[in-house]
Amino acid sequence: MTRQYQSVKGTRDLLPPDTEVWAAVEGTARQVFRRYGYGEIRTPVLEETELFVRSVGESTDVVGKQMYTFTDRKGRSLTLRPESTAPVARAYVEHGLAELPAPVRLFYIGSHFRYERPQKGRYRQFSQIGAELIGEEAPLADVELLSMLVRFLTGVGFDDLTVLLNSVGDEASRAAYRAVLTDYLRPHRDQLSEDSQRRLETNPLRVLDSKVDADRQALVDAPAIEESLSDASRAHLAAVRDGLDALGIAYRIEPRLVRGLDYYTETVFEIVAEGLGAQDAIVGGGRYDGLIAELGGAPTPAIGFALGLDRLIEALPEDAPQRRGAPAPTTLVAVGEVAPIETLRLAEELRQGGCTVVTELAPRSLKSALRRAARRAASHVVLLGDDELAAGEATLRSLQTGEQQRVRREELAIALAAEGAA
Ligand code: AMP
Repeated sequence: MTRQYQSVKGTRDLLPPDTEVWAAVEGTARQVFRRYGYGEIRTPVLEETELFVRSVGESTDVVGKQMYTFTDRKGRSLTLRPESTAPVARAYVEHGLAELPAPVRLFYIGSHFRYERPQKGRYRQFSQIGAELIGEEAPLADVELLSMLVRFLTGVGFDDLTVLLNSVGDEASRAAYRAVLTDYLRPHRDQLSEDSQRRLETNPLRVLDSKVDADRQALVDAPAIEESLSDASRAHLAAVRDGLDALGIAYRIEPRLVRGLDYYTETVFEIVAEGLGAQDAIVGGGRYDGLIAELGGAPTPAIGFALGLDRLIEALPEDAPQRRGAPAPTTLVAVGEVAPIETLRLAEELRQGGCTVVTELAPRSLKSALRRAARRAASHVVLLGDDELAAGEATLRSLQTGEQQRVRREELAIALAAEGAA
């Protein structure tokens, strides 16, 4: 027996018609983001491992447990990107994008890789759409970015969106909070999971995004970061809230929200939508005012988000216009003595006229051709017999009603459109 192969665990093939839905959702993102002045960036899938260690942080789950890291043939340590904010920041520094008028607005769509336990909505290769607004510290940058995100999510049919908002403050706020949180957690040390006991020493804020029950219980009475915020961080958050209020964007302050990656500063957020479990944020993001400097650029404030496309599409509302997909192509069939090349020729004319058509490429009985067209869910077939060919016409047949009409060849594209065929 010859062995058959399967896609690697945690990865999957996306097939038509699902890919039509993906393309439509991505199309909406491109359209919405362009209206806000964003340009697309495509960074490589491979980066130096150190880029992620430096930026995302050594003590995070992403870097500590989930990276696909390997040594290439020259002994360099490379990693399949687990996220794209660090690669975009790298590209911003590498290409001197600071020279452009600030802020620079970029978006990306692409595959990311994390070694996680595969489950519904969680894959080892998954797709994210993200955007980064680089070079503006004003709170209105946060407001504009969130507004764009909400606009996109409403555009793909989600309503009842709530922005979960918090601030992790500036460096001074976080240092103060780290001390307060450590003091609070020390007496609960034995209750904590092994991971969180380690985090308590290396990076106590990470304990806050633990999903382990014991850790969550230990945190019930933990002080909120809000009390440790500096005046400047408080003012920033207040201004973001005012802006969201002014635009009518619903949000809720979530005092425990700190996000899983180290580079976040000030504003952090997630968005939950009706129909998704409360645990299931489809998108998360925040400010990362220190990251560009950390990667060798000038100090540059920035904010961004990343949205999981796999989960978004699984949760896409039934009535989302992006679900409609493309109609099935009209099938052209040569009848009688007509050579299939004649239908190929006609097909070319129709495609020029904007129609979506396929032809039977080898001679087949009319019955089998009709059956195949119906299985493809075509609404119409076009029959080309000797008679029609000689008269410069074709027969247009509806598969729903069985009705037929003779149409002049040059009017066929218009007739198909009028019938609502592809
Ligand atoms: P993060 O970069 O961890 O903030 O993730 C941002 C979004 O990407 C999440 O809200 C998820 O929707 C999505 N995401 C993260 N990891 C995965 C995964 N393994 N599979 C599918 N989606 C993911």
